[in-house]
Amino acid sequence: MIIVPEAEIAGLVDEQAAFEAVEAVFAAMARGDATNFPVVREAIGHADALYGFKSGFDRAGLVLGLKSGGYWPGNAGRGLTNHQSTVVLFDADTGQCKALVGGNLLTALRTAAASAVSIRHLARPDAKVLGMVGAGHQSAFQMRAAVRQRAFEKVVGWNYHPEMLPRLAETAKALGLPFEAVSLEELGAQADVVVTITSSFAPSLMAAHVRPGTHLACMGTDTVGKQEVDAALVARATVFTDEVAQSITLGEAQHAVKAGLKAETDIATIGQVIEGTHPGRTSADEITLFDGTGVGLQDLAVADRALRLAVERGVAQSVDF
Ligand code: NAD
Repeated sequence: MIIVPEAEIAGLVDEQAAFEAVEAVFAAMARGDATNFPVVREAIGHADALYGFKSGFDRAGLVLGLKSGGYWPGNAGRGLTNHQSTVVLFDADTGQCKALVGGNLLTALRTAAASAVSIRHLARPDAKVLGMVGAGHQSAFQMRAAVRQRAFEKVVGWNYHPEMLPRLAETAKALGLPFEAVSLEELGAQADVVVTITSSFAPSLMAAHVRPGTHLACMGTDTVGKQEVDAALVARATVFTDEVAQSITLGEAQHAVKAGLKAETDIATIGQVIEGTHPGRTSADEITLFDGTGVGLQDLAVADRALRLAVERGVAQSVDF
């Protein structure tokens, strides 16, 4: 069995590698070659922790496994990351455990890769201004992955907690892009692409804020009750997602579906667009919205990439198991 420690991931998987892995597995899902299994997520009644499993199988790439982990709110006080995850990969022919891969950085990379894939396939080709709603841990990964997809000239940002905005300013600076902190009205008026990445339970970005032609990647809502954008905005947009079943139950579309403003059958997958079985954006003034809910197959895809690169570069640790 091979171990790829968390500390090695940064040197192995970059934005491009994560993008390729996630784009390929979204396409495999649309072809019916890859399946996510039911998610287990439980409050364990200890340390206030939420613990769970996301698993699946990609028959095209022969990637079988699970990501296990969750959220330990007290970890920050111990100098540890609150979100903890580990990926276990199995040999698809024998069921033997193949690898243990650190999953913390990979989770941020695969989440950012998903919105980047949506920008690649759904944003207007002439998009120039990137809008960021959210300035937490994931936001820097999101911005770094997004700017690779279009010739962005500027980043505008808004956050519920303005004291966190320097993270966006610093990330944009490192990318060589000017950054402006703006109101939500100004963000909607300027941005061609908007990434939302917050843990909000009430909408921030409203339908009236967003102009025609915008692409939105809504990445923060991954739980029942969370909400980042107005249900009326979801209703107005052409909606795409990673997994329709998750989008309508725990993704951003849950609220519009519950309100009867959108039906399950109105939502396409980004994999269909990648595969060419859905046209994606069909006009320059269409609002497109990607509801990125996060699926286990994304985790397995990037972990498999990390494993292959670790073996190739001689940094994998092999143990008898
Ligand atoms: P974080 O705790 O580091 O940051 C939270 C962000 O949400 C900050 O910008 C904060 O200001 C904002 N926020 C908090 N309360 C708010 C409110 N009431 N209204 C508006 N904004 C508010 O979190 P993070 O690690 O950056 O994760 C952000 C979100 O992304 C979380 O909801 C997380 O569960 C989700 N997430 C989704 C995926 C996926 O695959 N879709 C993967 C990882 C994380």
